[in-house]
Amino acid sequence: MDFDFTPEDEAFRAEVRDFIKKHLPKKGTPEELARWHEQARARRWVGFAWPTEYGGGGGTLSQQVILKEEMARAKAPPLGTCFMGLAWVGPSILSYGTEEQKRKFIPDILDGKYQWCTGYSEPGSGSDLAALKTRAVRDGDDYVVNGQKIWTSIAMWSKWIILLVRTDAGSGKHEGITCLLVPMDTPGITVRPIKNMAGGAMFAEVFFDNVRVPVANRLGEEGQGWQVTVSALAHERSSIAEVAGLQRTLEDLKALAKKCKKNGRPAAQDPGVRRRIARADARIEAMRLNGLRFLTRQLRGEPVGPETSVNKLQRAALEVELGELALEIEGPAGVLDKDAAPEKGKWQRMALSWPEVVIGGGTPNIQRNIIAERILGLPKDP
Ligand SMILES: Cc1cc2nc3c(=O)[nH]c(=O)nc-3n(C[C@H](O)[C@H](O)[C@H](O)COP(=O)(O)OP(=O)(O)OC[C@H]3O[C@@H](n4cnc5c(N)ncnc54)[C@H](O)[C@@H]3O)c2cc1C
Repeated sequence: MDFDFTPEDEAFRAEVRDFIKKHLPKKGTPEELARWHEQARARRWVGFAWPTEYGGGGGTLSQQVILKEEMARAKAPPLGTCFMGLAWVGPSILSYGTEEQKRKFIPDILDGKYQWCTGYSEPGSGSDLAALKTRAVRDGDDYVVNGQKIWTSIAMWSKWIILLVRTDAGSGKHEGITCLLVPMDTPGITVRPIKNMAGGAMFAEVFFDNVRVPVANRLGEEGQGWQVTVSALAHERSSIAEVAGLQRTLEDLKALAKKCKKNGRPAAQDPGVRRRIARADARIEAMRLNGLRFLTRQLRGEPVGPETSVNKLQRAALEVELGELALEIEGPAGVLDKDAAPEKGKWQRMALSWPEVVIGGGTPNIQRNIIAERILGLPKDP
């Protein structure tokens, strides 16, 4: 990888910095945020590298990296509001969708018109996703779907779901799976929120009872669902593995360490705290450089692949460690919650929310299996 950016790239960096200076929301009010999204969208910085014919920016991958770096440095709000749509549903539709699907869904994702959720996991299939049992039977121009999904994040607020179903029970485990795009208000869908240990209800069980889905809503061919999902999961892991969020967290943690006292002096002067912060800093920098390595592959035209598991694994470990370190830095106040806790319980929420990045998108063990089998070429997990 050539670590130097071209003069055009550096000019783009200056443009981004100028934009941030002018438009970065100061107070984070809804009006300010709406204006921020409008301005970013007008510049086609949402879906920066997506094709222009569907409303994307058509930008280069290296300038996309610059955009993300500068936004992270400024602690700017995300570009775009349709989280799953931008992170993996949109890229999957761009890779596998029909022309009609691309024109229907991509502009809405870029405009953040509504949310998407992801229906992969079932009570009996999480890590072993290909064991999924939700059935879809062809009936004329429709599929009729029956079954249950679980841990479906933001299902209660989503308008569409990207859904994995079994269309052929007879063929091999991976061959009989198909991907459907389903409106959440279709008759026969029931959503039951599940409360998590941080007290919120961010995910749900989703039940499908004779749900009719037009064949035109199939993403890819019948039986191609596994391929679609492997690519979508690589995008999901790469979004989870993004270093920008971690860099922001570490900066906030350093500020917390300067503010809180340990043994009568700022925690930031404690050798143990300093060592752990420095270690985290080095690991995040290694993740950033790894990210640039993957970017080089993409610049050569290679698809996002198993290598995203490396940074996903690192992010998971760091997220847990930084959450624990923050509570240690807070000392006895670390056991408080919400408004009683320092910074309104921000670090308590983070420390209790680790399953999102550790388990969501596949557990650490599964990432290790992927790295072992698909990157290092070790024998397959039996
Ligand atoms: C916050 C959160 C949000 C989520 N959001 C979504 C979502 O939006 N949509 C969705 O479909 N799913 C979602 N999930 C589900 C998530 O993808 C699954 O929980 C995850 O894949 C693990 O599956 P499981 O819970 O069934 O655990 P299991 O697969 O039963 O795993 C249990 C344990 O066994 C280990 N294990 C399993 N198989 C192996 C193996 N072959 N080798 C070594 N160890 C193994 C695992 O690492 C784990 O430690 C979410 C989960 C969380 C926590």
